[in-house]
Amino acid sequence: MQQSADSITIALSKGRILKETLPLFAAAGIEPLEDVHTSRKLIFETTQPNVRFIIIRAVDVPTYVEYGAADLGVAGKDVLMEHGAQEMYELLDLNIARCKLMTGKMKGAEVAHGRLKVATKFINIARQYYAAQGRQVDLIKLYGGMELAPIMNLADVIVDIVDTGNTLVANGLEADEFIADVSSRLIASRLALKMKDEKIRPIVDMLEAAVANNGANS
Ligand code: AMP
Repeated sequence: MQQSADSITIALSKGRILKETLPLFAAAGIEPLEDVHTSRKLIFETTQPNVRFIIIRAVDVPTYVEYGAADLGVAGKDVLMEHGAQEMYELLDLNIARCKLMTGKMKGAEVAHGRLKVATKFINIARQYYAAQGRQVDLIKLYGGMELAPIMNLADVIVDIVDTGNTLVANGLEADEFIADVSSRLIASRLALKMKDEKIRPIVDMLEAAVANNGANS
């Protein structure tokens, strides 16, 4: 996609974050011209002529922003922590899709003192977390259904996102150690901030007001 100097491309994460993100942008006067939930398109024009959305998997948002293929992006703090922040800036906590990164284990299980087997899709976060504690771990990369790993003896603990904790409980697990609070963040590419600050600033200001208003109403 050609990036023009006077257009703004905003990368949004598909899925549960999107439902909470769109009302914030709508409050900032930016709405997709088509229904993003039913369309199979990836690029959406918006009510602002020079602003478009691309709607992609959350894990891909930092990559588009990092390379300047998108000017702005919305992604969960978990995704940003796992990706590592290069060539981009976190501009705003959107205060949506709030949850926690935690470790989990079988309910009532004693976590061994020796080398731990940790199953997670957040390999970098888990590596940093246990390294900071000086704990020796074997990291096992999974792509979903982390709760199954301790049940099947694949791992001693998991590192995962916990919201209500119902998924853990439903599988006989419990949340154990807190790692980080998570919410969705507005990020900008370093290049876009340098080249398009005049265009980006009003969008950020309007989103900031929408976030404050959201907080006041909840
Ligand atoms: P819960 O059963 O409410 O603790 O939700 C746990 C599952 O929902 C996790 O394994 C995540 O996959 C998913 N989840 C919950 N909140 C979020 C969020 N804000 N962003 C992404 N995934 C989430």
